[in-house]
Amino acid sequence: MLPGFSYIQAKSLEDAIRLLSEDGARLHAGGTDLLGCLREHIFDAATVVSISRLEKLKGITELPAGGLRIGALTTVAEIARSPIIQAKYAALSQAAAEVASPQLRNQGTIGGNLCQKPRCWYYRGEFNCLRKGGDRCYAVKGENQYHCILGGADCYIVHPSDIAPALVALDAGVQIAGPGGNRSAAVENFHMPPSRDVTRETVLEPGEIVTDIILPAPKEGLRSSYRKVRARRSWDFALAGIALAIVFKEDQITDCRIALSGAAPVPWRLKEAEAVLTGSRRHQEIVQRAAQAALAAAEPLPQNEYKIPLFRGLIEQTILSIN
Ligand SMILES: Cc1cc2nc3c(=O)[nH]c(=O)nc-3n(C[C@H](O)[C@H](O)[C@H](O)COP(=O)(O)OP(=O)(O)OC[C@H]3O[C@@H](n4cnc5c(N)ncnc54)[C@H](O)[C@@H]3O)c2cc1C
Repeated sequence: MLPGFSYIQAKSLEDAIRLLSEDGARLHAGGTDLLGCLREHIFDAATVVSISRLEKLKGITELPAGGLRIGALTTVAEIARSPIIQAKYAALSQAAAEVASPQLRNQGTIGGNLCQKPRCWYYRGEFNCLRKGGDRCYAVKGENQYHCILGGADCYIVHPSDIAPALVALDAGVQIAGPGGNRSAAVENFHMPPSRDVTRETVLEPGEIVTDIILPAPKEGLRSSYRKVRARRSWDFALAGIALAIVFKEDQITDCRIALSGAAPVPWRLKEAEAVLTGSRRHQEIVQRAAQAALAAAEPLPQNEYKIPLFRGLIEQTILSIN
């Protein structure tokens, strides 16, 4: 059952920032994750502040320099079916199409997708785990087959978003408005690793709101793609996912960014693999070396060692098949 709270529709961005700076206030965009968290008592809210009527946070606009601005309230479904995103940023449109179910894509927003809470069954269950202020991560000695193999530090969640790794690969940024003014951050630096603060998922400070996502103009020769492996064929979070953005000059890889989902507590960039690929031609041996480099630092838990060959295969297949 949902606990009691006051519900307020913000009339402007300034109004929302003021309301969200109060103790116990929570931001409501599409509500697909927020309401579940409140119902499951993962956190409480004295006030729920809806930003859903802030029109200037909606829509997809081409920028004069060739990039794209996506308002934080743009739905995942709009992103998946946008012709310009399909044409210029295939990884993003493919990732959006892989999110949840049609109903959730129609209701959920890109801002909410980036800020959603993790899906770890201990965090979502009745366990006072480290992330909820407790003293341990229950996954370490518990059921950890879906947990992370990279970047875990006392907490072993995987980041739940399909869209975030696509944005990291495409070198996107977020614009943030808050009580201290406006600022921006690369999506790559937007999520909070547990080694820095295990109780937060993003770098947002109280009262701050993601207003826009900015995609740079695609470089000539850019090809991008997102592939996801899930445990079931109906809606499911990524067991393993990869977002690739590779710039080819004829057969040569001149630039490359790769990020994983389902691997780490934050969207996980593969800088070592990128270094192996950049400057090379795409062929089986170099791709195998890149996949090896990608997973060199992996530290699987007792039940998720299977993720290493799974990711290796996914990385190799996706790089070899990108067109
Ligand atoms: C059954 C189910 C299956 C799912 N499967 C997938 C999946 O396969 N892949 C995937 O990527 N996602 C999946 N999701 C997550 C889903 O995509 C997100 O719930 C959705 O995108 C969140 O958007 P929302 O607008 O509903 O956010 P809300 O629920 O309104 O908000 C989510 C969180 O983000 C905060 N927030 C929202 N917008 C902003 C903003 N602009 N600035 C700052 N903070 C903000 C809220 O305060 C809240 O904490 C699934 C969700 C469900 C319920």
